[in-house]
Amino acid sequence: MSIFSRSEGAPKTTRTPEDTQPSPKAETPRPDGSPAAGAPGERKTTGPRVALKRLDAFYGETKAVKDVELTFEPNTVTALIGPSGCGKSTLVRCINRMHEEIPHARAEGEVLLEDRDLYGDDVDVVAVRRAVGMVFQKPNPFPTMSIFDNVAAGMRLTGGRGHDLRQRVERSLRGAGLWEEVKDRLDTPGMGLSGGQQQRLCIARTVAVEPQVILMDEPCSALDPIATLKIEELIEELKTRYTIIIVTHNMQQAARVADTTAFMLSGELVEHAPTDTIFTNPSDERTEQYVTGKFG
Ligand code: ADP
Repeated sequence: MSIFSRSEGAPKTTRTPEDTQPSPKAETPRPDGSPAAGAPGERKTTGPRVALKRLDAFYGETKAVKDVELTFEPNTVTALIGPSGCGKSTLVRCINRMHEEIPHARAEGEVLLEDRDLYGDDVDVVAVRRAVGMVFQKPNPFPTMSIFDNVAAGMRLTGGRGHDLRQRVERSLRGAGLWEEVKDRLDTPGMGLSGGQQQRLCIARTVAVEPQVILMDEPCSALDPIATLKIEELIEELKTRYTIIIVTHNMQQAARVADTTAFMLSGELVEHAPTDTIFTNPSDERTEQYVTGKFG
Protein backbone atom coordinates (compact mmCIF):
# COMPACT_ATOMS: atom_id res chain seq x y z
CA MET A 1 0.00 0.00 0.00
CA SER A 2 1.40 3.35 -0.97
CA ILE A 3 0.63 6.50 0.94
CA PHE A 4 0.93 8.43 -2.30
CA SER A 5 -2.12 9.48 -4.21
CA ARG A 6 -2.60 7.80 -7.58
CA SER A 7 -4.68 10.71 -8.80
CA GLU A 8 -3.56 12.85 -11.70
CA GLY A 9 -1.73 15.24 -9.39
CA ALA A 10 1.90 14.41 -10.08
CA PRO A 11 4.32 14.78 -7.22
CA LYS A 12 5.37 18.41 -6.96
CA THR A 13 8.61 17.47 -5.28
CA THR A 14 11.65 15.95 -6.89
CA ARG A 15 10.63 12.40 -6.09
CA THR A 16 11.31 9.87 -8.80
CA PRO A 17 8.57 7.62 -10.24
CA GLU A 18 9.97 4.68 -8.25
CA ASP A 19 9.10 6.57 -5.09
CA THR A 20 5.42 6.17 -5.83
CA GLN A 21 5.76 2.39 -5.84
CA PRO A 22 5.83 0.36 -2.66
CA SER A 23 9.45 -0.22 -1.77
CA PRO A 24 10.50 -3.10 0.43
CA LYS A 25 12.01 -0.69 2.88
CA ALA A 26 9.05 1.63 3.25
CA GLU A 27 6.30 -0.92 2.93
CA THR A 28 7.44 -3.42 5.55
CA PRO A 29 9.11 -6.50 4.12
CA ARG A 30 6.87 -9.52 3.97
CA PRO A 31 8.88 -12.24 2.27
CA ASP A 32 5.85 -14.44 1.68
CA GLY A 33 3.80 -11.55 0.37
CA SER A 34 1.25 -12.03 3.13
CA PRO A 35 -0.55 -9.27 5.00
CA ALA A 36 0.76 -7.87 8.26
CA ALA A 37 -2.08 -8.68 10.64
CA GLY A 38 -1.08 -12.20 11.54
CA ALA A 39 -2.00 -14.26 14.54
CA PRO A 40 0.36 -13.97 17.48
CA GLY A 41 3.58 -15.78 16.75
CA GLU A 42 2.55 -16.45 13.17
CA ARG A 43 5.23 -14.30 11.59
CA LYS A 44 7.37 -11.36 12.38
CA THR A 45 7.53 -8.27 10.28
CA THR A 46 9.25 -4.98 10.70
CA GLY A 47 7.42 -1.75 11.30
CA PRO A 48 8.78 1.46 9.76
CA ARG A 49 10.88 4.08 11.48
CA VAL A 50 8.85 7.23 12.16
CA ALA A 51 10.75 10.48 12.44
CA LEU A 52 9.43 13.88 13.42
CA LYS A 53 11.49 16.73 12.03
CA ARG A 54 11.02 20.20 13.48
CA LEU A 55 7.38 19.47 14.09
CA ASP A 56 5.18 22.35 15.20
CA ALA A 57 1.44 22.04 15.79
CA PHE A 58 -0.91 24.95 16.19
CA TYR A 59 -4.46 25.64 17.32
CA GLY A 60 -5.07 29.00 15.67
CA GLU A 61 -2.15 31.14 16.81
CA THR A 62 -1.33 28.94 19.79
CA LYS A 63 1.58 26.57 19.39
CA ALA A 64 0.88 23.33 21.24
CA VAL A 65 3.85 21.32 19.88
CA LYS A 66 7.13 23.16 19.51
CA ASP A 67 9.94 22.18 17.20
CA VAL A 68 9.93 18.52 18.14
CA GLU A 69 12.62 16.21 16.75
CA LEU A 70 11.91 12.62 17.68
CA THR A 71 12.49 9.21 16.13
CA PHE A 72 10.39 6.14 16.85
CA GLU A 73 12.27 2.95 16.03
CA PRO A 74 10.66 -0.08 14.36
CA ASN A 75 9.30 -2.85 16.55
CA THR A 76 9.67 -0.67 19.57
CA VAL A 77 7.17 0.76 22.01
CA THR A 78 7.75 4.43 22.72
CA ALA A 79 5.81 6.06 25.55
CA LEU A 80 5.01 9.77 25.57
CA ILE A 81 4.71 11.14 29.08
CA GLY A 82 4.29 14.60 30.56
CA PRO A 83 1.77 16.66 32.50
CA SER A 84 -1.74 17.12 31.20
CA GLY A 85 -1.85 19.71 28.42
CA CYS A 86 1.84 19.37 27.44
CA GLY A 87 0.95 18.33 23.88
CA LYS A 88 1.15 14.52 23.87
CA SER A 89 -2.19 13.91 22.17
CA THR A 90 -1.64 16.73 19.72
CA LEU A 91 1.72 15.27 18.77
CA VAL A 92 0.36 11.79 18.08
CA ARG A 93 -2.55 13.22 16.11
CA CYS A 94 0.00 14.88 13.83
CA ILE A 95 1.44 11.45 13.00
CA ASN A 96 -1.72 10.24 11.30
CA ARG A 97 -2.77 13.72 10.17
CA MET A 98 -5.85 13.84 12.35
CA HIS A 99 -4.73 17.08 13.96
CA GLU A 100 -5.55 19.04 10.83
CA GLU A 101 -9.19 17.88 11.03
CA ILE A 102 -9.70 20.21 14.00
CA PRO A 103 -10.90 23.66 12.84
CA HIS A 104 -8.03 26.19 12.71
CA ALA A 105 -5.48 23.52 13.58
CA ARG A 106 -2.39 22.94 11.47
CA ALA A 107 1.04 21.36 11.61
CA GLU A 108 4.40 22.40 10.19
CA GLY A 109 7.56 20.38 9.75
CA GLU A 110 7.93 16.80 8.61
CA VAL A 111 6.64 13.43 9.72
CA LEU A 112 8.67 10.77 7.94
CA LEU A 113 7.53 7.18 7.58
CA GLU A 114 10.88 5.68 6.66
CA ASP A 115 11.94 8.29 4.11
CA ARG A 116 8.52 9.53 3.07
CA ASP A 117 7.05 12.76 4.38
CA LEU A 118 3.42 12.18 5.35
CA TYR A 119 2.85 15.89 4.79
CA GLY A 120 4.16 15.82 1.23
CA ASP A 121 1.98 17.35 -1.51
CA ASP A 122 1.40 14.01 -3.21
CA VAL A 123 0.32 12.09 -0.13
CA ASP A 124 -3.11 10.48 0.12
CA VAL A 125 -4.38 11.33 3.61
CA VAL A 126 -6.76 8.36 3.70
CA ALA A 127 -3.85 6.02 2.99
CA VAL A 128 -1.84 7.71 5.76
CA ARG A 129 -4.61 6.96 8.23
CA ARG A 130 -4.66 3.36 7.09
CA ALA A 131 -0.88 3.05 7.44
CA VAL A 132 -0.93 4.76 10.83
CA GLY A 133 -3.74 3.29 12.91
CA MET A 134 -5.03 4.81 16.12
CA VAL A 135 -6.58 3.46 19.30
CA PHE A 136 -8.32 5.99 21.52
CA GLN A 137 -8.72 6.56 25.24
CA LYS A 138 -12.29 5.36 25.38
CA PRO A 139 -13.11 2.19 23.46
CA ASN A 140 -15.25 3.30 20.52
CA PRO A 141 -16.70 0.30 18.69
CA PHE A 142 -19.20 1.24 15.98
CA PRO A 143 -22.32 1.23 18.13
CA THR A 144 -24.80 -0.43 15.76
CA MET A 145 -22.43 -3.10 14.44
CA SER A 146 -21.78 -6.69 15.43
CA ILE A 147 -18.36 -7.84 16.62
CA PHE A 148 -17.68 -9.25 13.15
CA ASP A 149 -18.75 -6.10 11.34
CA ASN A 150 -16.71 -3.87 13.61
CA VAL A 151 -13.57 -5.65 12.49
CA ALA A 152 -14.69 -6.08 8.87
CA ALA A 153 -15.83 -2.49 8.30
CA GLY A 154 -12.48 -1.08 7.19
CA MET A 155 -11.64 -4.15 5.11
CA ARG A 156 -14.96 -3.90 3.23
CA LEU A 157 -14.02 -0.39 2.18
CA THR A 158 -10.98 -1.83 0.47
CA GLY A 159 -12.93 -4.60 -1.23
CA GLY A 160 -12.67 -7.50 1.25
CA ARG A 161 -15.40 -10.12 0.67
CA GLY A 162 -16.53 -13.65 1.54
CA HIS A 163 -14.15 -16.32 2.79
CA ASP A 164 -11.13 -14.05 2.62
CA LEU A 165 -12.93 -11.44 4.73
CA ARG A 166 -13.88 -14.05 7.36
CA GLN A 167 -10.30 -15.26 7.55
CA ARG A 168 -8.98 -11.77 7.97
CA VAL A 169 -11.52 -10.98 10.69
CA GLU A 170 -10.46 -14.11 12.57
CA ARG A 171 -6.78 -13.28 12.12
CA SER A 172 -7.31 -9.74 13.39
CA LEU A 173 -9.30 -10.93 16.41
CA ARG A 174 -6.58 -13.48 17.17
CA GLY A 175 -3.98 -10.76 16.75
CA ALA A 176 -5.83 -8.67 19.33
CA GLY A 177 -6.09 -11.59 21.76
CA LEU A 178 -9.89 -11.64 21.55
CA TRP A 179 -10.79 -14.54 19.24
CA GLU A 180 -11.28 -17.23 21.89
CA GLU A 181 -13.60 -14.98 23.87
CA VAL A 182 -15.86 -13.98 20.96
CA LYS A 183 -15.66 -16.70 18.31
CA ASP A 184 -19.11 -18.07 19.25
CA ARG A 185 -20.87 -14.73 19.23
CA LEU A 186 -19.47 -12.82 16.31
CA ASP A 187 -22.95 -11.67 15.29
CA THR A 188 -23.73 -10.03 18.62
CA PRO A 189 -23.25 -6.28 19.12
CA GLY A 190 -19.72 -5.04 19.79
CA MET A 191 -21.17 -2.80 22.47
CA GLY A 192 -22.18 -5.92 24.44
CA LEU A 193 -18.55 -6.65 25.30
CA SER A 194 -16.82 -5.49 28.49
CA GLY A 195 -14.75 -2.32 28.36
CA GLY A 196 -11.49 -4.23 28.06
CA GLN A 197 -12.89 -6.48 25.35
CA GLN A 198 -14.22 -3.44 23.49
CA GLN A 199 -10.74 -1.93 23.56
CA ARG A 200 -9.27 -5.16 22.16
CA LEU A 201 -12.03 -5.12 19.53
CA CYS A 202 -10.88 -1.62 18.58
CA ILE A 203 -7.32 -2.91 18.37
CA ALA A 204 -8.56 -5.76 16.13
CA ARG A 205 -10.31 -3.18 13.96
CA THR A 206 -7.10 -1.17 13.78
CA VAL A 207 -4.85 -4.12 12.82
CA ALA A 208 -7.47 -5.42 10.35
CA VAL A 209 -6.55 -2.81 7.76
CA GLU A 210 -2.88 -3.78 8.07
CA PRO A 211 -1.31 -0.61 9.38
CA GLN A 212 2.42 -0.18 9.85
CA VAL A 213 2.31 2.05 12.89
CA ILE A 214 -0.15 1.98 15.81
CA LEU A 215 -0.78 5.09 17.88
CA MET A 216 -2.43 4.61 21.25
CA ASP A 217 -3.73 7.60 23.17
CA GLU A 218 -4.11 6.54 26.81
CA PRO A 219 -5.69 3.24 25.73
CA CYS A 220 -6.10 1.90 29.27
CA SER A 221 -7.32 4.96 31.12
CA ALA A 222 -10.95 3.77 31.05
CA LEU A 223 -10.09 0.16 31.99
CA ASP A 224 -9.76 -1.79 35.23
CA PRO A 225 -6.37 -3.23 36.23
CA ILE A 226 -7.01 -6.70 34.77
CA ALA A 227 -8.18 -5.36 31.43
CA THR A 228 -5.20 -2.97 31.51
CA LEU A 229 -2.82 -5.88 32.02
CA LYS A 230 -4.30 -7.69 29.00
CA ILE A 231 -3.83 -4.64 26.81
CA GLU A 232 -0.27 -4.24 28.05
CA GLU A 233 0.48 -7.87 27.22
CA LEU A 234 -1.06 -7.32 23.82
CA ILE A 235 1.13 -4.26 23.23
CA GLU A 236 4.19 -6.43 23.93
CA GLU A 237 2.92 -8.88 21.32
CA LEU A 238 2.00 -6.21 18.76
CA LYS A 239 5.43 -4.64 18.83
CA THR A 240 6.85 -7.68 17.07
CA ARG A 241 4.94 -6.49 14.00
CA TYR A 242 4.37 -2.75 14.35
CA THR A 243 5.95 0.47 15.47
CA ILE A 244 3.99 1.50 18.55
CA ILE A 245 3.61 4.93 20.11
CA ILE A 246 1.63 5.17 23.31
CA VAL A 247 0.54 8.25 25.24
CA THR A 248 0.17 7.52 28.91
CA HIS A 249 -0.21 9.55 32.08
CA ASN A 250 0.58 6.42 34.06
CA MET A 251 4.30 6.22 34.67
CA GLN A 252 4.13 2.63 35.89
CA GLN A 253 2.56 1.74 32.58
CA ALA A 254 5.33 3.47 30.68
CA ALA A 255 7.86 1.57 32.78
CA ARG A 256 6.09 -1.73 32.05
CA VAL A 257 5.46 -1.46 28.32
CA ALA A 258 7.84 1.03 26.78
CA ASP A 259 11.33 0.41 25.45
CA THR A 260 11.96 4.13 25.22
CA THR A 261 10.17 7.05 26.81
CA ALA A 262 9.86 10.66 25.70
CA PHE A 263 9.11 13.36 28.25
CA MET A 264 7.27 16.47 27.06
CA LEU A 265 6.69 19.76 28.81
CA SER A 266 4.78 22.79 27.51
CA GLY A 267 4.80 21.49 23.95
CA GLU A 268 8.54 20.78 23.92
CA LEU A 269 10.36 17.50 23.95
CA VAL A 270 12.59 17.59 27.01
CA GLU A 271 14.22 14.20 26.71
CA HIS A 272 13.90 10.85 24.93
CA ALA A 273 15.87 7.86 26.19
CA PRO A 274 15.57 4.20 27.10
CA THR A 275 12.76 3.91 29.64
CA ASP A 276 15.10 2.77 32.43
CA THR A 277 17.24 5.84 31.92
CA ILE A 278 14.26 8.19 32.03
CA PHE A 279 13.12 6.73 35.33
CA THR A 280 16.45 6.18 37.05
CA ASN A 281 19.01 8.50 35.54
CA PRO A 282 17.43 11.21 33.35
CA SER A 283 19.74 13.84 31.98
CA ASP A 284 17.36 16.78 32.45
CA GLU A 285 16.40 18.02 35.89
CA ARG A 286 12.81 18.65 34.79
CA THR A 287 12.44 14.99 33.80
CA GLU A 288 13.69 13.92 37.19
CA GLN A 289 11.28 16.27 38.95
CA TYR A 290 8.39 14.92 36.91
CA VAL A 291 9.15 11.21 37.30
CA THR A 292 9.69 11.62 41.02
CA GLY A 293 6.28 13.25 41.35
CA LYS A 294 7.45 16.78 42.14
CA PHE A 295 4.96 18.24 39.64
CA GLY A 296 2.34 17.24 37.11
P1 ADP B 1 -1.94 16.33 26.48
O1 ADP B 1 -2.32 15.25 25.55
O2 ADP B 1 -0.50 16.32 26.86
O3 ADP B 1 -2.84 16.43 27.68
P2 ADP B 1 -2.98 18.08 24.42
O4 ADP B 1 -2.22 17.73 23.21
O5 ADP B 1 -4.36 17.55 24.57
O6 ADP B 1 -2.10 17.72 25.71
O7 ADP B 1 -3.07 19.66 24.53
C1 ADP B 1 -1.94 20.51 24.30
C2 ADP B 1 -2.41 21.95 24.35
O8 ADP B 1 -3.27 22.19 23.25
C3 ADP B 1 -3.19 22.31 25.60
O9 ADP B 1 -2.88 23.61 25.97
C4 ADP B 1 -4.63 22.21 25.15
O10 ADP B 1 -5.44 23.09 25.89
C5 ADP B 1 -4.55 22.65 23.70
N1 ADP B 1 -5.60 22.01 22.89
C6 ADP B 1 -5.83 20.69 22.78
N2 ADP B 1 -6.88 20.45 21.96
C7 ADP B 1 -7.31 21.66 21.53
C8 ADP B 1 -8.34 22.09 20.66
N3 ADP B 1 -9.18 21.24 20.04
N4 ADP B 1 -8.48 23.43 20.47
C9 ADP B 1 -7.65 24.32 21.06
N5 ADP B 1 -6.66 23.97 21.89
C10 ADP B 1 -6.48 22.66 22.13
